[in-house]
Amino acid sequence: MKDVLDFDLQLFLRSLLPADDEVLQNMRSYAEAHHVPVVDPEVANLLGLLTRIAQPEQVLEIGTAIGCSTICMARAMQRGCITTIELQEERHIRALEYFRQAGVTERVHAILGDARVLVPQLEQQYDMIFMDAAKGQYQEFLSVADRILNQGGLLVVDNVLLNGWVVNLNYPRHRQKTMVYRMKAFLEQFKENNIYQCSVVPLGDGVAIIRKSEA
Ligand code: SAH
Ligand code: MG
Repeated sequence: MKDVLDFDLQLFLRSLLPADDEVLQNMRSYAEAHHVPVVDPEVANLLGLLTRIAQPEQVLEIGTAIGCSTICMARAMQRGCITTIELQEERHIRALEYFRQAGVTERVHAILGDARVLVPQLEQQYDMIFMDAAKGQYQEFLSVADRILNQGGLLVVDNVLLNGWVVNLNYPRHRQKTMVYRMKAFLEQFKENNIYQCSVVPLGDGVAIIRKSEA
């Protein structure tokens, strides 16, 4: 029953969204055919809205895939640039082509490589970070991203509910155990935290909207 309700809710929320343009439609078809993870439409819309509100100058994205979330943020930016990092070459190359088609090339600096290696080397400061790479590595990414996230900056983290497994810790396979427990600990650290304020929004696969305090 609950699943039916959740499904109806998701369909309803999606019915309220503006239609994707041709580039995004093609990207979603490609992603489905090639099993590439992409941001859910309702989360993509939220991401665009958060970007418009925050008006960041410098954005960092960890996990480009084929660039769907990148394009949603880039289109919401009036100035500045997104640095986005992807590990898989095939996805990175696809993303470059989609950035061209979407007309956002000038706003996007796409890097091929391992974010665990590259993020600690970044020298710039960022106003907004979208974290969407390996779900078992969020804590590791946060500890390196903290250095480069400006005070008052926004950290948006996708897939924090991990298909709901985090809620009751009932994951289908034993190999998912570490990731699920890590994610729970990742979310719990914000309960009492002087630096970060977090709201977990149960949209899509769960989005954490986190703000770094000013002092
Ligand atoms: N943000 C994209 C989806 C990203 S899916 C969108 O919403 O459209 C997660 C991506 O992170 C995958 O393509 C995966 O290859 C990449 N990834 C995983 N670990 C990574 C790492 N250590 N460094 C860079 N990218 C990584
Ligand atoms: Mg995601």
